[in-house]
Amino acid sequence: MIPSVLPTYNRAPLNFVKGEGSWLIEADGRRFLDLGAGIAVNALGHAHPKLVEALTTQAQNLWHVSNLYHIPQQQALADKLVDNSFADTVFFTNSGTESCELAVKMARKYHFEKGNPDKVEILTFAGSFHGRSSAGIAAAGSEKMTKGFGPLLPGFKHLPWGDHEALTAAIDDTTAAILIEPVQGEGGIRPLPDQCLKGLRDLCDEHGILLILDEVQCGVGRTGKLFAHEWAGVTPDIMMVAKGIGGGFPLGAVLATEEAAFGMTAGTHGSTYGGNPLGCAVGCAVIDAVADESFLSEVNRKAGLLRQKLEGLVASHPDVFEEVRGTGLMLGLKCKAANIDVVNAGYDAEVITVPAADNVIRLLPALNLTEADIEAALERLSAAATSVAA
Ligand SMILES: *Cc1c(COP(=O)(O)O)cnc(C)c1O
Repeated sequence: MIPSVLPTYNRAPLNFVKGEGSWLIEADGRRFLDLGAGIAVNALGHAHPKLVEALTTQAQNLWHVSNLYHIPQQQALADKLVDNSFADTVFFTNSGTESCELAVKMARKYHFEKGNPDKVEILTFAGSFHGRSSAGIAAAGSEKMTKGFGPLLPGFKHLPWGDHEALTAAIDDTTAAILIEPVQGEGGIRPLPDQCLKGLRDLCDEHGILLILDEVQCGVGRTGKLFAHEWAGVTPDIMMVAKGIGGGFPLGAVLATEEAAFGMTAGTHGSTYGGNPLGCAVGCAVIDAVADESFLSEVNRKAGLLRQKLEGLVASHPDVFEEVRGTGLMLGLKCKAANIDVVNAGYDAEVITVPAADNVIRLLPALNLTEADIEAALERLSAAATSVAA
């Protein structure tokens, strides 16, 4: 008999009832160090007092109003994002894949309104992940995500990762945009080198096409800058955000330049819940915390510390691990053993990590984890590695 919850997930036998900072707690009191943070969602850890305060204060006043009316919390969050990024304007969604939907629509509408209705095709890359909506799976294009779900949304061309020649050859009169994650998450923590991101920007400028960055996983402080593309010193035309921006409350956004948003006039897009007062009140508290220079420099310091210790872990367990990869607090351990065995051994050692493609385990901890949390991470990962090796 089919379970009452549609069985689309492979769930670990863990049942958490409480979260505190970087820790998840089961009903019997077992405490797990959470290095997954809900897959890069709980940017400030669990039950951060400022987020609890923002949410509960808003909940006592107003949960939901339609986007038929002004929403002050939404306005405030949009202003913060515009002040702290390349963007001139923001649309709020509830998830990453909804942000993908709008990014694709916006790019196509831009060219349509500029008199180029044939420019519809979006170039995407092997190993990418953009969510599970029809546009998201068509964009990623992998068999794992698309098989059986056809006909797929047309207008995506899938290119190998890191092949500049294939990319330049793929651009033609129908190209609307390039869509890429500055650091692939699900694909196995693969950062795009800064030079490549600069190259993509140049290519887009040369051909009059839009650069869409998917920062759903790598954005909001994860790499040690508010947004990952800042490291390369270039800016996109459109950017997808979600996960960390809500700190655990469902919230997403599409950020865009005024030029890229040219076609998005009244009535062209909408969402019932997108930008609701609860989500935006929390989002404001997240951005207030994360966009702070001293917070980001702490992220970089702790990322350096964690990475250094992980290099040591790999060196002392060469039969289990191959290398550390990634950037900031978006780190991956490429495994020699099966990554899922390492994740499972982690559960026994009371540490949570997240598997990714390419036999990698992901470490996406809360951005405000403590040095004691880092010590605990190493002890527990080392115990997990020892048990996998045995
Ligand atoms: C998680 C993720 C998405 C999808 O986000 P949802 O909120 O699950 O729809 C899209 N892009 C990237 C890079 C992601 O990591």
